[in-house]
Amino acid sequence: MRNPKDLDDRRLIAELRAMVRQFDESTALAQVRERQKKDPFKVLIATVLSQRTRDENTTRASNSLFSEYPTAEALAKARIRDVERRVKPSGFYHVKARKIREIARILLERYEGRVPSKMEELLELPSVGRKTANCVLVYAFGKPAIPVDTHVHRVSNRLGIVHTKNPEETEEQLSHFLDKAYWIEINELMVEFGKTICRPIGPRCDICRLNRLCDYTRNEKSLLQKRT
Ligand code: SF4
Repeated sequence: MRNPKDLDDRRLIAELRAMVRQFDESTALAQVRERQKKDPFKVLIATVLSQRTRDENTTRASNSLFSEYPTAEALAKARIRDVERRVKPSGFYHVKARKIREIARILLERYEGRVPSKMEELLELPSVGRKTANCVLVYAFGKPAIPVDTHVHRVSNRLGIVHTKNPEETEEQLSHFLDKAYWIEINELMVEFGKTICRPIGPRCDICRLNRLCDYTRNEKSLLQKRT
């Protein structure tokens, strides 16, 4: 892992905050959290809908779904065709519609319609892995956790604050690098940063405030020097 003298967690968070402030972007989950007043049911269902799709599709599908089915009780009784129609913008809608209705039924049976706030209980729900469970802990319950999606995984590895092959390893290494005080905001910051500056293709390293400390730019430079 990187020498903390180069880039420590405090500096990382300060630079990310400064960079994302320039853009009028907010993540789909941050929007659900604000609009739905941290309703854990809506955060959970929106996070499942966000799997393997873009933020704008998650927002469209969630808004349509929650306008008709705002609670676990309502969704558990819904007709599957109508649920499919509403979540269609999020992709994989046959599977997602069935999974979210099943989640609603389990919440009713086991938790009186409420979403549990413990990692182990969340992981027992269909379509809920560590990333989704961590999102619910952070965005609905305000508990310190590190949801690692494709943006968080890519940005952390490019910077060189982790060296990992999968999101689970990234979560583990980030939890050592970052003080717990920063866990709540790291997902939102890195997702916004990953969508606007550290993009998957064509990262905007020229305007990035971290470019002198980033492994990706160092490696690119040494590759260029070798070629010339
Ligand atoms: S310098 Fe480039 S690769 Fe490194 S964090 Fe910034 S945008 Fe991403």
